[in-house]
Amino acid sequence: MTRAFNFSAGPATLPESVLRQAQAEMLEWNGVGASIVEISHRSAEFVAVAAQAEADLRTLLGIPDDYAVLFMGGGATTQQALLPLNLAAAGQRVDYVVSGHWGKTAVRQARPYVDVNIAADGEAGGFRDIPARAQWRLSDDAAYVHITANETIHGVEFREVPDVGAVPLVADFSSSIASEPIDVSRYGVIYAGAQKNLGPVGIAVVIVRRDLLERAGQPRADIFDYRSHAARDSMLNTPPTWNWYLLGLTVKWMLAQGGTAEFARRNAAKASLVYQTIDGSGGFYRNEVAPAVRSRMNIPFFLPSADLDARFVAEAKAAGLLALKGHKAVGGIRASLYNAMPLEGAQALAAFMHDFQQRNG
Ligand SMILES: *Cc1c(COP(=O)(O)O)cnc(C)c1O
Repeated sequence: MTRAFNFSAGPATLPESVLRQAQAEMLEWNGVGASIVEISHRSAEFVAVAAQAEADLRTLLGIPDDYAVLFMGGGATTQQALLPLNLAAAGQRVDYVVSGHWGKTAVRQARPYVDVNIAADGEAGGFRDIPARAQWRLSDDAAYVHITANETIHGVEFREVPDVGAVPLVADFSSSIASEPIDVSRYGVIYAGAQKNLGPVGIAVVIVRRDLLERAGQPRADIFDYRSHAARDSMLNTPPTWNWYLLGLTVKWMLAQGGTAEFARRNAAKASLVYQTIDGSGGFYRNEVAPAVRSRMNIPFFLPSADLDARFVAEAKAAGLLALKGHKAVGGIRASLYNAMPLEGAQALAAFMHDFQQRNG
């Protein structure tokens, strides 16, 4: 068996030790005589796994007690629709800062329910920069301000938490959660689909300040209600148990590796290897993002022609570097360097880039 370095943007690479443990436990788990995917979510054994995953995530991210942590089926896009239903009255003003594809998606999911004010939009500049805070046109009466902490497709990332005053800041952290320490108390809600940095697809984490659970929101079914999920420890219905278990294993692995401070160090090292290779290539490789907001997680770049882009992707794959094709919205190449990507993967990519340039530059 050969495991390649997998630069997929999501679903993305997972730690090999997590996959091995899951493999070893697939048929029979924890002495219960069955697989974890075959037992009740209400069994004491599974409830303990779920509670441990929450406790470990709280430790990993330093989540204060006045925040609830929800584990919900589905992806980040589902949360983008649930946010306005839970946090805003029907037709109420909400502010969105659009810094790339996922900010636009968040707006699209919210529009049926609320009055979306686009407080700032980077699209005119091709999403190569994040509009400066001083230029945002925030509403006085917004229910919340929404940002995308890291834009997975356009490769731009907030490098500091914007000050939005007393209005709750809601942030989509799908592709950068746990990549570095964060101050959770600066946010009203942090949400993330798991499949980039936390585990497998099919489960999303919502970290919500408890006072926001008291908001009336708008008419919605129980199953769309954050308060109901919080009151029932995210077991209102059958949660995605296998995903929750894998997420728990992944979070435990992150803690054992040294936590978010250690991943911040590793992620900075991996990203700077690739950016240095791009910047040192004399223009053969190009990343067009403003340096101050370059993402550490997702690095889009271009070669001198679409032909070379395609050859790069194909030869990289043959060399054991997978999934480097850029998203169709941007084109070119994209290298995703999540927590589970080892430094050796970034080194192998940088070496391949040097070699490819020598042969084609
Ligand atoms: C992947 C991603 C999403 C969408 O997640 P789904 O699970 O496909 O709904 C939303 N936001 C960001 C920042 C992402 O990276």
